[in-house]
Amino acid sequence: MRRLSILGATGSIGQNTLDLVRRAPEGAYRVAALTGGRNIAQLARDAREFKAEIAVTAHDDLLEPLRDALAGSGVEAGAGAGALIDAAERPADWTMSAIVGAAGLAPGLAALGQGGTLALANKESLVAAGPLMMRRARVAGARILPVDSEHSAIFQALAGEDSDAVSRVVITASGGAFRDRPLKDLHRASVAEASCHPNWNMGQRITIDSASMFNKALEVIEAREYFGFDPDQIEVLIHPQSIIHALVGFRDGGLMAHVGPPDMRHAIGYALNWPERRALPVEPLDLARIGRLDFTAPDPARYPALGLAWHVMRAGGLAGAVFNAAKERALDHFIAGRVGFMEMAGLVEAVLDSLEAHPDLAAPEITLETVRRADHLARQQLDAHAILRAE
Ligand code: NAD
Ligand code: MG
Repeated sequence: MRRLSILGATGSIGQNTLDLVRRAPEGAYRVAALTGGRNIAQLARDAREFKAEIAVTAHDDLLEPLRDALAGSGVEAGAGAGALIDAAERPADWTMSAIVGAAGLAPGLAALGQGGTLALANKESLVAAGPLMMRRARVAGARILPVDSEHSAIFQALAGEDSDAVSRVVITASGGAFRDRPLKDLHRASVAEASCHPNWNMGQRITIDSASMFNKALEVIEAREYFGFDPDQIEVLIHPQSIIHALVGFRDGGLMAHVGPPDMRHAIGYALNWPERRALPVEPLDLARIGRLDFTAPDPARYPALGLAWHVMRAGGLAGAVFNAAKERALDHFIAGRVGFMEMAGLVEAVLDSLEAHPDLAAPEITLETVRRADHLARQQLDAHAILRAE
C-alpha cells in the first residue's frame, strides 16, 4: 500500500488527483495528509471520504471550523503555515504539490526532505527556487516528477533518449481566452472574461495567466530549471486545439510530439503510476474528428509577458523569484480591478529592471531565506510601480 499526501487537495489539480485515487483498487493507497485553504467543507468531506490521517487548512483562523467539520471522523485537524509543513513532512511515498503560487514552495521543500516522490504541479516553486528544489531532492534522494502537462509531455518524449541529442524543445500554448480578440480590445478585458479557458478547466489564477501567457513564461523557465535546457533551445507555439502538449527536437531532425486530450488526469496519472503506465479515465482521441492541428508563432504585442521568461533566464540568480512574485502581485491587482489586463507585463518588467542590481539580491546561493527576501521586495516594488502608474 502506498502512502500519499496532497498539498492543495481542494483545488483543481487536487480534485483531479483525488478522482484518480477514488478509482484505484481498494487498498492501493493510504491517504496521509490533505491540505486546503478556505474551503473547509470540501477539505473535511474529502478527508472523511479518503480516511486521511490529517487535514490542514492554510488559515489559522479556520482551525475551529475545521475541527467541527471533522468531529467524530478520527481525522486530525491542523491550521496555519507550521501545520502545512508538518503535513508535508508526514511520511508519504508520493506527494502531490498542488498549492497555487509561491506559497507552495516551503511545503514542497518539506515534502522533498522525506526522500519520496514529489509530483510537481506547483511550477511557481521551480521558477522561484529551481536550484534549491533540485538540490533538496538530490540530497534527500527524492524524485520530482513533472505534472504540468507540457513538462510531463517533454518527460515522456525524452524517455529512453540521450539528453545530449536534444537540440530544441517546443512548448505549446492554447493562446488563452483572448486568442482571437482584436488586440485593441485587450486593454478592456475583464476578470470574468480572462477567467474562461477555451480548452482546459483549471483554477482561476492559472486560467488568467494562460490568457496573458504569464503561465507560458513560467513554463519556459520551469522547463529550463527541470530539464536544464538552454534558453535559446526553448520555443513556444500557439496550438489552439491543445492536443500536442510539447515536442522535443533531436539533432537528427526528428521531433517527438506528445499527443493527448486536454485532461490533467493524464499527466497526474502518469506521475502517480510512473514508472508503469496504467489505464486512466482519459478519453481516447478521435483524430479524424479533430481533423487538423494548427500552429502559429505568438505575437509579442499580444503576449508581452512571454518574452520576459528569456529576460529572467539570462539574468539567473533570484530573477525567477522576483518574476514570480511580481507576477502574482500584478495578478492580485488585476483581479481586484486596480490594474488593466495589458498593464501587468509592463509592471512586472519594471520590477525586474528596478531589482536587477539590488544589493540584497546579489546572493550567490538560492536558499529559502534569499528567495523569500526577493519575493518580498518584488511584491513591494510591484505595488510601488502600480501606484506610480495610477497617478
Ligand atoms: P486552484 O486555485 O484550483 O487550487 C489551489 C489549491 O491551493 C487549493 O487547494 C487552495 O486551497 C490552496 N491554496 C491557495 N492558496 C494557498 C496558500 N496561500 N497556502 C496554502 N494553500 C493555498 O489551483 P490549481 O489550478 O489546482 O493549480 C494548482 C497548481 O498547479 C498551480 O501551481 C498551477 O500553476 C499548477 N497547475 C495547474 C493546472 C490545472 O489544470 N489546474 C495545470 C498545470 C499546472
Ligand atoms: Mg501547463
